[in-house]
Amino acid sequence: MSDCLFCKIVAKEIPATVVYESDRALAFRDINPQAPTHVLVIPKLHVANAVELADAGDGLADDVLRAAHAVAEQEGVSEGGYRIVFNTGADAGQTVFHVHAHVLGGRSLTWPPG
Ligand code: 5GP
Repeated sequence: MSDCLFCKIVAKEIPATVVYESDRALAFRDINPQAPTHVLVIPKLHVANAVELADAGDGLADDVLRAAHAVAEQEGVSEGGYRIVFNTGADAGQTVFHVHAHVLGGRSLTWPPG
């Protein structure tokens, strides 16, 4: 999608600090981190939200979740615990409509999310 921020990051038209890449997924540091580890994991294919990711089929959602776990392991937060968040829709705070998993960790996370 030509006007999508995260598609531009996939296309390397906008710089990002990439921490993990596979054939179909890309992970890069959030520009405004909310925890010591705050990485966004996206499919390279443009889909808007978590439901569209599931509907894309062909194991794409699995690839994104596996990439999220690989990032957590790489960042050293997988044993202590980390959070995977898909903000879905404007009321949930989704501002970029290219689906992304926030991988958050490296501090004690509160619930409700904070
Ligand atoms: P959302 O609010 O849609 O769940 O999350 C969007 C995330 O993208 C936010 O946490 C925001 O900080 C991050 N973000 C917005 N613009 C950029 C950017 O240009 N580069 C990077 N790396 N992150 C961005």
